[in-house]
Amino acid sequence: MLTRTDFYKEIIDNLPEGVAVCDDKNNIIEVNRNFEKISGYTRKELVGMEVFEVIRPSSKETCAVCHEVEEPEEKKSDFQLGELKDKDDQLVCVRVSQSMTASNNIIYLVIPFSEIAFLNQAHLDFVSTVSHELRTPLTSIKGFADTLLNAGDNLKKEQQIRFISIIKSQIDRLTRLVENLLTVSKLEAKDSKTIYKAVEIEKIVESVLYNLSHKSKEHKIEVNILPNLPSAWADADKLEQVMMNLVDNAVKYSKPGTTVSIEAGFAENDLDRVQVNVKDQGVGIPEEFLSKVFTKFSRIDNPLTREVQGTGLGLYITKSLVKSMKGDITAESNDQGTTFKVILPAISYETHTQQRFQENN
Ligand code: ADP
Repeated sequence: MLTRTDFYKEIIDNLPEGVAVCDDKNNIIEVNRNFEKISGYTRKELVGMEVFEVIRPSSKETCAVCHEVEEPEEKKSDFQLGELKDKDDQLVCVRVSQSMTASNNIIYLVIPFSEIAFLNQAHLDFVSTVSHELRTPLTSIKGFADTLLNAGDNLKKEQQIRFISIIKSQIDRLTRLVENLLTVSKLEAKDSKTIYKAVEIEKIVESVLYNLSHKSKEHKIEVNILPNLPSAWADADKLEQVMMNLVDNAVKYSKPGTTVSIEAGFAENDLDRVQVNVKDQGVGIPEEFLSKVFTKFSRIDNPLTREVQGTGLGLYITKSLVKSMKGDITAESNDQGTTFKVILPAISYETHTQQRFQENN
């Protein structure tokens, strides 16, 4: 026979909302099945956690994740805008309702926005980024091309060269945008194969630094790779793109004269995985934005970001590429700078020893 407790549990588990019951200090004491599903955590992991580690009601009328504006009629309901940080550190827009029981427990009800709202927002972000990233270089290309056409003969040689270089750099910017968009659609269509092989981190770093040497001339670059580090079991092209994005950002978002360091070794307490850190002494990323930087089209509004070009796609692509190689990427930041940490599977100890043997003979 169903007991009264089982009966309530059954009902709560079948509610369409995620439910978290907390004590008066907002520590979770019970959750329903949907809350586990939405957050990606198990009940065991959630019980004891402070609820604000997972959901955060927003006091503002605009969602901090997707910039959705609260409709006046929705305001009348008990639900307010909020965000949920799932186990993978992805931020999800939610509506949150909060109520107090007679025994001083706090009950949170959470509803994620529908897929449609997400798609609409993704569409808006896409249109706004792409139109800005298209319009700005096109305006500049047209302006300098017109000047060269109309007054080219009267310009000094150096001026002509400068204007043509600007046109070229704006075309490079357009090319990068198109390449990024193509990579995103390939990744989202799961259309990009991962070709695993043993990839030497040192070779990838060398190639990345060579390709970025024109941009990083004014930075000090330090490389520190553990001697004898086994190769990563990864896709060489994908890993190179990951490293390009991270080192490029490290240079872009830090002042000339500062140091960018690339360190590689084993992941902590794990001889089966290698870790590469890209560390800069730049502007840093505020704590609340750390997980957001991996979402599509996200750019942090600060004076430097406004100054440097970008689409907000680089880290989204980077994370997708790392995940497609069964790896992981995290970011840490403070006012001294930012460190991105990439962890990837290493080749087996036997393969590594065999490789070393072949190299030495
Ligand atoms: P983009 O550089 O094209 O804008 P990314 O996806 O590579 O896009 O980065 C997203 C945002 O994260 C950037 O706009 C910037 O605000 C921030 N960011 C990325 N890397 C760093 C870094 N190393 N230091 C400080 N901020 C960073």
